[in-house]
Amino acid sequence: MKVTAVDVQYEVAPPRERPIRDALQTLDGGGTVRVQIEAQDGLADRVTGRSSTGFGRLRAAPAVLAQLIEQELAPAVIGQDPFLIRGIRDRLWQLTDYHGSTGLSLLGISAIDVALWDLVGQALRQPVWRLLGAARDRMPAYAMVGWLNFSVEELKPIAERAASQGFKAVKVKVGSPTLEEDVARIQAVRQTIGPEMKLMVDANQVFSVPEALIRGRVYQELGCFWFEEPLRADDHAGLAELADKLDMRIASGENDFGVRQFRDLFQRRAVDVVQPDLRRAGGATECLEIAALANAFGVAYASHGGGAHLHLLAAMPNAIYMESGYLPQGRTLVDGCIPLPEAPGFSQPEW
Ligand SMILES: [Mg+2]
Repeated sequence: MKVTAVDVQYEVAPPRERPIRDALQTLDGGGTVRVQIEAQDGLADRVTGRSSTGFGRLRAAPAVLAQLIEQELAPAVIGQDPFLIRGIRDRLWQLTDYHGSTGLSLLGISAIDVALWDLVGQALRQPVWRLLGAARDRMPAYAMVGWLNFSVEELKPIAERAASQGFKAVKVKVGSPTLEEDVARIQAVRQTIGPEMKLMVDANQVFSVPEALIRGRVYQELGCFWFEEPLRADDHAGLAELADKLDMRIASGENDFGVRQFRDLFQRRAVDVVQPDLRRAGGATECLEIAALANAFGVAYASHGGGAHLHLLAAMPNAIYMESGYLPQGRTLVDGCIPLPEAPGFSQPEW
């Protein structure tokens, strides 16, 4: 089987009526890049694999990424056997080495990798999780519902809705101007969801080490399950210091790129929960390798975002959560979990 075409499309989303906000960024719009890879085996039917990459902001990025994939990466994929996914991945890293394989290049490499895995699933008529040797048939999910621009009063019905959809864990943003405001947010959500559900907090990289220590000691007193991105994502030494000094779990990884950056996190014992993003970390292949490495270090894995990641989480013995938002109206989880889909490739659950 040979890849015959790589098609790239992008779109820019209209501005959000009410931008959402975390402690670092205002997410006011964004866009999507879609990759479609076609392959053919002699005269047999054509097979297609697809992926998409979303941007919460950066209006020019979808166009730049589409061009990078189309002009630089795609020519190296056309003519290749789509089943040689790790070979293609290594070739693309080599190709982009001169200007940097991480950052936007790796978003492109990831998009191609995910589309190739989807294509393999389509060709074999199996969901990707079944090709990987799954560890489970359902995946616990948590709801990220507490954006920082939501007031304390707004947070309560939001958390209530997540609980009513069957989530057993929710996450809220912290990193408000004062610790008191963070505490009010956490207490309001805790009051709403009761003592049994897990509650995670996410600071989106904004603290210094001293501030993260002061706030982290309070968050852990309040029983929060993990403290996500307390520091800049590339401050692995700082994260290691926090992991050492705080009792609560330190989580990071959504802004790390490639398995070797993750190796550094693990070697420094900088995280208790690692959170790769399928778009940025390097695609399905890279995420599976990161998970295996994390497992060897005794580090739990929780995806940043969901979607196709669900299939990979199913195959990771150390996966504890998939990140989700609300479910569509009328849908609920099963025992706090998303059942794995049966359709071929990277199909998503029916909801
Ligand atoms: Mg986060």
